[in-house]
Amino acid sequence: MRDLLGGKGAGLAEMTRLGLPVPPGFTITTKACNAYAKTGRFPPGLWKQVEDGLSAVEAKMGGRFGDPANPVLVSVRSGAKFSMPGMMDSILNLGLNDAAVASLAQTSNERFAWDAYRRLVAMFGRIVKDIDGRKFEAILEQRKRATESKKDTDLVAEDLKAIVAEFMRLYRDEVGGDFPQNPKEQLREAIAAVFRSWNGKRAVDYRTFNKIPHDLGTAANVQAMVFGNMGADSGTGVAFTRNPSTGEDQLYGEFLPNAQGEDVVAGIRTPMTIAQLRETSPELYDQIAEVADLLEKHYRDIQDIEFTVERGKLWILQTRSGKRSARAAVKIAVDMAREGLVTKKEAILRVEPMHVVQLLLPQFDERAKAAARRDGRYLARGLNASPGAAAGFATFDPDEAETMGRDEKKPVILIRVETSPDDVHGILHSKGVLTARGGATSHAAVVTRGLGIPCVTGCESIVVDYDQGQFRAGEKVVQRGDFVSIDGSTGEVFEGRIPTIDPDFRKEADLQALLRWADEERRLQVWANADYPRDAERAREFGAQGIGLDRTEHMFMETDRLDIVHEMILAAPEYRRVSAEVRALTSELEAAKEEKRDALSKRLRLLEPKLADLSRRYLGSLETLGGLQKKDFLGILRVMQGLPVIIRLIDPPLHEFLPKYETLLVEVTKLTLARGDPGILVRTAHSEDDAAFLEEIKKAGNGDLARGIESMLPKKQLLLEAVAATRESNPMLGLRGCRLGITFPEITEMQVRAIFEASCALTKENIVVKPEIMIPLAGHVNELKIEREALEAVAKQVMDREGVTVAYKFGTMIELPRAALTADAFARHAEFFSFGTNDLTQTTFGYSRDDAESKFLLDFIDRGILPSNPFQTLDRDGVGQLMQMCVQKGRKVRKDLEVGICGEHGGDPASIELCHELGLDYVSCSPFRVPVARLAAAHAKLREEVREFGDR
Ligand code: PEP
Ligand code: MG
Repeated sequence: MRDLLGGKGAGLAEMTRLGLPVPPGFTITTKACNAYAKTGRFPPGLWKQVEDGLSAVEAKMGGRFGDPANPVLVSVRSGAKFSMPGMMDSILNLGLNDAAVASLAQTSNERFAWDAYRRLVAMFGRIVKDIDGRKFEAILEQRKRATESKKDTDLVAEDLKAIVAEFMRLYRDEVGGDFPQNPKEQLREAIAAVFRSWNGKRAVDYRTFNKIPHDLGTAANVQAMVFGNMGADSGTGVAFTRNPSTGEDQLYGEFLPNAQGEDVVAGIRTPMTIAQLRETSPELYDQIAEVADLLEKHYRDIQDIEFTVERGKLWILQTRSGKRSARAAVKIAVDMAREGLVTKKEAILRVEPMHVVQLLLPQFDERAKAAARRDGRYLARGLNASPGAAAGFATFDPDEAETMGRDEKKPVILIRVETSPDDVHGILHSKGVLTARGGATSHAAVVTRGLGIPCVTGCESIVVDYDQGQFRAGEKVVQRGDFVSIDGSTGEVFEGRIPTIDPDFRKEADLQALLRWADEERRLQVWANADYPRDAERAREFGAQGIGLDRTEHMFMETDRLDIVHEMILAAPEYRRVSAEVRALTSELEAAKEEKRDALSKRLRLLEPKLADLSRRYLGSLETLGGLQKKDFLGILRVMQGLPVIIRLIDPPLHEFLPKYETLLVEVTKLTLARGDPGILVRTAHSEDDAAFLEEIKKAGNGDLARGIESMLPKKQLLLEAVAATRESNPMLGLRGCRLGITFPEITEMQVRAIFEASCALTKENIVVKPEIMIPLAGHVNELKIEREALEAVAKQVMDREGVTVAYKFGTMIELPRAALTADAFARHAEFFSFGTNDLTQTTFGYSRDDAESKFLLDFIDRGILPSNPFQTLDRDGVGQLMQMCVQKGRKVRKDLEVGICGEHGGDPASIELCHELGLDYVSCSPFRVPVARLAAAHAKLREEVREFGDR
């Protein structure tokens, strides 16, 4: 019915059928609109039907359209299938002309009559004849000035009459003819104009933006006018059947006596609440409550009802399902299911998964945010990378963020051009993160989403200046220590503090109930990405059924481990080279003839101390790290006891753990230059970074600059050389993922040893563990094969030594198109697949996940080149097709292959639906997204049921 009659028309027809007091009228269908759009004429027979409809309205109203003695006035309102508020036109008070207005002035209220007429002439002129609305406004304003009237309502009948005369003149000048006195002509032109407004610019833009098809057309509702401004026993109001912001089951709304609908919107007078109406007009209240109850039961959803009271008689003008806050959506759905008004399945589908995100994150008080905007404190907008609201002191330095956030317990917002693993310690202690560059899967975005910290990335309109400790947004400057507020749900950035409201999942009883119902429906399991025991605990609290991704390298980044990691990385290449040389020499020696042995032994003896030193540095660091990693794994496996935990072996390129090449180069240059003149360092120390470097040098020289320089320079030079040696032109496609483990097997062996030592220890404590070891970024099955063989040997060694058997799995990430294309081969060597869709999207599109969004991707989306951001919502046609092929090929070879997803898409409802369709076993997302994913997985299943069996 909505297709033909539009939302408003369908509602009116339905309410009329229910016997509610709806002003009589009729609806001209969307089909007629489409016919008019094609030919520029009404389809044959339409006008006759309009005339018949009009007669029926006249009979019901006891008057005549166009009869000066007893006029019936009508409105023509647009109304499409989907609500397009304010985007199309409506014309009110049709049927008034010079004769009718005079008699209306006599029989009812003079001011009211002339006011209605001036509104008609202006609306008709503007909408039907395209006269610039500002010209009518100007006449009105001039009259108000002349009579010293503050508001429209201060104008008396005489003023309005004069205004009508001027409007008529304007009309004639602009149109070249008089305002039509024939009411039917008014009506005909009004209907045509409403049809035309479907293709007006506003409406077309709105549909394009909201993806509403352009060929639906609008219906036109012709309806008798009723007036709420006919005296003290009249009025107009809006009623919600439940409270739309809290969801409470109570009639909620406003009523304005002696007023018309537009007066409520214009806020001319403060309306009374519906609760107050109960006191002043109990009978009217009861009537409204009865209608509300009937409509809510009929539509089985909260209704937003517009009504008018004309001389004591209640008229219902419109009903539609009420817009509601996230909190109200959940409460209303659960309450209605408990009341038996909807089924549990319907209740689940009534709540948007993204509503759940809003419920579980700190939010800005919306009124305070609006006030900040009014006060001119809005600064900029970036990408809404990690939702939630945060306010804190601006800091540009991760060390300072850590000190202030942890030690001084101050709220801080860490602001960076972009973040790197070196900044994690600062991020951990910040309330929010703001970056000028980077997209939805940039480092800052991924890390903060995992931690549930609000984040705005890619805020390209701010200029960050570390040296000055400030950022600029247009004319405004925010200094270190100033307060800033960021909204990670919208990407907005504000100056100053906006108060936030904190949530608590344990107290969200309605949400918990809804999610339990969702759990009964969904087929997909929901796991979480978690690196630390505290993340795992949170994930379980939110209902996670496993850990789908533990990025082990994140533990390498902790401040107390970075030095050990540096030592390990710096020694690794040399260790590899020297140990290979020693191996080669040893075997040469074994096979060598007598006369050569001496020389070979000598060379070997020379290398041995070097190898010993490198072993101490490389293997020694690894051993220390292994001990620490064992503790990490003990923690996470203990929390998740009995549930699967996928632990991914080291993935990022090693240089990510080292200081930046550019920084080192500057430092070495400065130290070299200052050798002959240490004072130059003091004279040229302008920024905070310079001052910090100076301090570091002094410390190295026990307070003496020259000594500090001599001590630091060789070390920094060595570091620079090592960093230069690990540098790659294309690190994302370089020595990372399983390529690292193959090149430096000792690193991944250390990790696997730690996993199995932790697993054996817990097993001995009778704690069930289910570790799953995941190999990242494999592109050829041989990479997987060689890694797995080497690592399973280590696992076996540990289990043999400990005398314990652990049930484990070995599997791989699918992050490269080649892995997906050859999934059958992969499945022979992997017990599970996990789609790393961040990298899979990057490598399928060839878009850099770090740069694309800030450089061109968002523009491509704006221009419609891409339908959506493929780093946020899985690209069905490309990446999705690879995934489908991969699942099918993999399961053909290994029926019980466990398949999941651990890229950022695992928390995105639309992507979750695709994962459901592809038959994945689970989705894994950040702990804070787990409730969202539980609901989205149920939606996917229920929608599939509707597709298969219809809406039963
Ligand atoms: C991925 O690529 O989707 C993934 C989960 O791995 P990371 O983001 O750590 O590269
Ligand atoms: Mg990856």
